Amino acid sequence: MHSTEKELSLASNYGATNYKPLPVVLTKGSGIWVEDADGKHYMDMLAAYSSLNHGHCHPRIIGALKEQADKITITSRAFHNDRMGLFLEKLCGMTGFEKALLMNTGAEAVETALKAARKWGKLKRGIENGQIIACKDNFHGRTISVVSFSSEPQYRDGFGPFTPGFKLAKYGDIASMEKLINDKTVAVILEPIQGEAGVIVPPAGYLQAVRKLCDKHNILMILDEVQTGFGRTGKLFAFDHEGIRPDVLVVGKALGGGVYPVSAMLSNNDVMEVFRPGDHGSTFGGNPLGAAVGFAALEVLEDEKLVARSEELGAYFMSKLKTIRSSKIKEIRGKGLMIGLEIKKSAGPARPLCEKLMELGLLCKETHVQTIRFTPPLVITKDELDKAFEIIKSVIK
Ligand code: PLP
Repeated sequence: MHSTEKELSLASNYGATNYKPLPVVLTKGSGIWVEDADGKHYMDMLAAYSSLNHGHCHPRIIGALKEQADKITITSRAFHNDRMGLFLEKLCGMTGFEKALLMNTGAEAVETALKAARKWGKLKRGIENGQIIACKDNFHGRTISVVSFSSEPQYRDGFGPFTPGFKLAKYGDIASMEKLINDKTVAVILEPIQGEAGVIVPPAGYLQAVRKLCDKHNILMILDEVQTGFGRTGKLFAFDHEGIRPDVLVVGKALGGGVYPVSAMLSNNDVMEVFRPGDHGSTFGGNPLGAAVGFAALEVLEDEKLVARSEELGAYFMSKLKTIRSSKIKEIRGKGLMIGLEIKKSAGPARPLCEKLMELGLLCKETHVQTIRFTPPLVITKDELDKAFEIIKSVIK
C-alpha cells in the first residue's frame, strides 16, 4: 500500500482525465465502511452508484468468488460451464422472466436490449430500421449508440456521428411520448427513476401509462433498472411499485454483488427468440466466475431480506432528512434507499458540500451539479443511518 499523495500523482500522471474523483484513496471496504490510505474510516453512502447493495466485500459473495476462482473462471461461450445454467435459473425465477442474456456492464446490456427490440420489430412486425423512443435526461451508459440518444451535451460533444433511429420524449409526460410514436416505432426505453439526472421520480401512474401505451401500439417497453434494481428503491424492482411488468428488463450493477461486473437483458421467449446463434455475444458474458458471484448475490439479497430493509430504512431515513430545516434545500426525493437531496442554486453547487461530508467521514457524490445522491449499501443499520444523518445535518445547516 502506498500513500494518498503517491496514488493521486500516479493516477494523474498515467490515467485518462475522463473522471474527477474526490481526492480520497480507498484501500479496504467492509459492509458500509471503507478505509483510506491514511487509515481514516468513512461511511460509503454512494455504494458505487448502487453496485454495492450488498455492502463491500460481503463474506458470502467473496467466498463464492474465491471458491469458483480455484475451479474454473472463464470458458467463453464456445463451451458450456457448470455455473451459468444455475445462475440463469435463479435470475429468471426471481424476476419472473422466461429468459436471460448475460453480459458484463450496464451499457452492454442496454445495447443488447436495443438490438433485441430492433430485431423483434423486423421479425415480428415487419419493421425495418425500427425507431426507439427514449426520455430526455436519461442515462443508459456511454457507448456511441447509447449516447446517441443522450440529451446531455457533454456526453455527445465530439463523439459523433451517432446511431440514428432514436427520439426523445419528456420524462414523466405520457402525451409527449405518445406524440412520437409512428409506424416505425418498435420500443420505448426508460429508467423507472432517473438516477444520474438527480434521482428524478416520475409522477405516480407514469409507468402504468407507459405500459398501456406500449400495449396499445404493440411496441416493447424496455425498463433500464441497472441502478434501481435489486432492492434499491424498496421493491425488488422499481416497476413493482406500479404493479406492471416491462417486456424487456435491463439489469447490472448490484447483480454482480459489488465484486464483479455482471449484467443481463431479461425478457420472455417471444422477444428473446429473435436472437439466433451468432447474432450477438460477449466473450465474458455468462462466465463461471461471474455466474457464481451473481448467484451468491441473489441468494444474499433474499436471505438477508435486503429489499424489505431498503423499504423500511429508506422511509426512516427520508423522514429524518425531511426534518432538516435549511434554506439551502430545494427538495428531498426518492424511493427506498435511493434518495436525492437537491440544493438550491442560490446556495451554490453540491460539490463543496460533498467535500465537507468527506472530511467528516461520509462519502457521497453530487450528480448534475445541484443534487447529492444518498444510496448506501442496503445492509446499513438504523444506527448507522442516524450517524449519517447527524453528519449530513451539520453540513447542510
Ligand atoms: N443504465 C443506468 C440506469 C445506469 O445508471 C448506468 C450507470 O450508471 C448504466 C446503465 C451503465 O452501466 P455501466 O456503467 O455498467 O455501463
